[in-house]
Amino acid sequence: MSTNVESLDFLFLAGHPVLDFLNTRPVVKGKAVEQLGTLEEFTRWLIRAGRIDAKAAADALRRWNDGPEGERIAERARAFRETLRAMTDGLVRGRGASTEGVAAINFVLAENDGTLRLERQGAKFRTRFAARSTSPISLLGSVAEAAADLLSRANLALLRRCGNPDCVLFFYDGTRNHRRQWCSMGTCGNLMKVRAFRRRHRKLRTAP
Ligand SMILES: [Zn+2]
Repeated sequence: MSTNVESLDFLFLAGHPVLDFLNTRPVVKGKAVEQLGTLEEFTRWLIRAGRIDAKAAADALRRWNDGPEGERIAERARAFRETLRAMTDGLVRGRGASTEGVAAINFVLAENDGTLRLERQGAKFRTRFAARSTSPISLLGSVAEAAADLLSRANLALLRRCGNPDCVLFFYDGTRNHRRQWCSMGTCGNLMKVRAFRRRHRKLRTAP
């Protein structure tokens, strides 16, 4: 099966929204594919990730897509993603969260104006930060919230990078035994199994 790079869909396999966000620049056949090239793509990702609803996305596009803000916020989203990637890479390698990563998250959170709201959720209540959607930073704010959630609530020892050295995808290992190795069994898992099989096979053939 060949992968059509142009039509590559967003990947939601990481088990945490901020890691899914990092995975919007996958490497396909040795080439990095940018999936957040425009504001339109960024809002589409936010909808699919459940961070904003379709109406908020349509409002954002109407307000900013034709002006310089649209391009600027898409560019900031990509830069924020790369800062978070460097931080996550450090976490995976056991170096802890970088000061730059934490500062970048706090910078977006501080800029994102809004209020904490109390909402009913069935018979219970929950609090939710409702951003004032009149500024484009509100789009990035929901990603910064997800990043803050990861750092403050997840078990950071379970952050993983895919075991395929050619793959750049991250995931949160929520499996019971914590032995998940691949972004996806269907792609990298199978590929690496085939490679391991070939290596063993070669050794057997060249053995004296
Ligand atoms: Zn992979």
